[in-house]
Amino acid sequence: MEKVVKQYCEKIHKSVTELLAVRPEGRGTARLDVAVMEICGTHTMAIASSGLRNLLPASLRLVSGPGCPVCVTDQSYIDRAVHLSQLAGGPVIATYGDMVRVPGRSGSLAEARAAGAAIEVVASATRAVELAKQNPGREIVFLAVGFETTAPGTALAVLKAREEKVKNFSVFTAHKLILPVMRALLSADDVRVDGFLCPGHVSVIIGWGAYEEIARRYRRPCVVAGFDPAQIVAGIAEIVRQLAEDGPAACSVYPSVSKEGNPAALKLLEDVFVLADVPWRALGVVPQSGLELREEFAAFDAAGRFDLPEVPSYELPGCRCGDVLSGRCLPADCDLFADRCTPRRPVGPCMVSSEGACAAAYKYERR
Ligand code: SF4
Repeated sequence: MEKVVKQYCEKIHKSVTELLAVRPEGRGTARLDVAVMEICGTHTMAIASSGLRNLLPASLRLVSGPGCPVCVTDQSYIDRAVHLSQLAGGPVIATYGDMVRVPGRSGSLAEARAAGAAIEVVASATRAVELAKQNPGREIVFLAVGFETTAPGTALAVLKAREEKVKNFSVFTAHKLILPVMRALLSADDVRVDGFLCPGHVSVIIGWGAYEEIARRYRRPCVVAGFDPAQIVAGIAEIVRQLAEDGPAACSVYPSVSKEGNPAALKLLEDVFVLADVPWRALGVVPQSGLELREEFAAFDAAGRFDLPEVPSYELPGCRCGDVLSGRCLPADCDLFADRCTPRRPVGPCMVSSEGACAAAYKYERR
């Protein structure tokens, strides 16, 4: 593995040198570095834990994008989930573990649990349906977060609940789609991305062909990679090779990803959800970037079943998670990093999540 990583790193050094040598200097657009964005929390962790940044040219910047499901979830959703857990005779909140410690304006779900709220950590949406079947006298609300990776599981759970007439199960959905947010980033004047290292898990579902439009329209390489260091450097090498030689294209260096993706999973998404304009942390509302339940599944929509307050989007004071998630800054650029914000006492979700850029930087890259 080390030998393979070294070989790819040599290729990357060569391509970056070639690329920068031909970039026009002295014109307003001259840029003497290359910015590659990974949009997958697993990549973020793998890059940090393997120390890859130290092996790459200084002129190649690896920045994190909006790929961590917990981190991109808008603050208002956290507050509404906490509110839901505190309703009188309230529902059991079934959630992935990383959501529990994200601080909201009125505390986190962990704090709500300490005060008596019923919070159950589950590994899947179907486990939440099982929970509902085992507790017919309680409402079970599943916090449905994540990208195309987890959304098919939520769709399956809803279909299962309908088929088995499980009436005390509902989902509070904040599922998001990766392509609309990539477009939103590329449309922002102050975000700098030369190429995308595309997520392995999401791409298993949507297929690498889904990125062709981004590569063509925005002229950015989109390369899908797996999660070990050799896969990641192979993906980066392909990005800089395209920039230096052939021009942008979409492709995959990850053998598990096909061009078409997983048609059965995509059909599940289409059957159960409709596209919606939804808020992202610090990126605002991104058109058609979220998934809401279709009208025919309204009975399973927690947002309709419970009295939830409208909470406007807001940022946690001093926290720069939004800038971190859009590649505008690195975790260490946040004044709170490793000072007031640590994994033991996190201020923002990027320090809470096991896939968060700040948690990764704290654990592996803190000097
Ligand atoms: Fe937010 Fe903490 Fe990261 Fe700063 S270090 S951006 S406060 S999570």
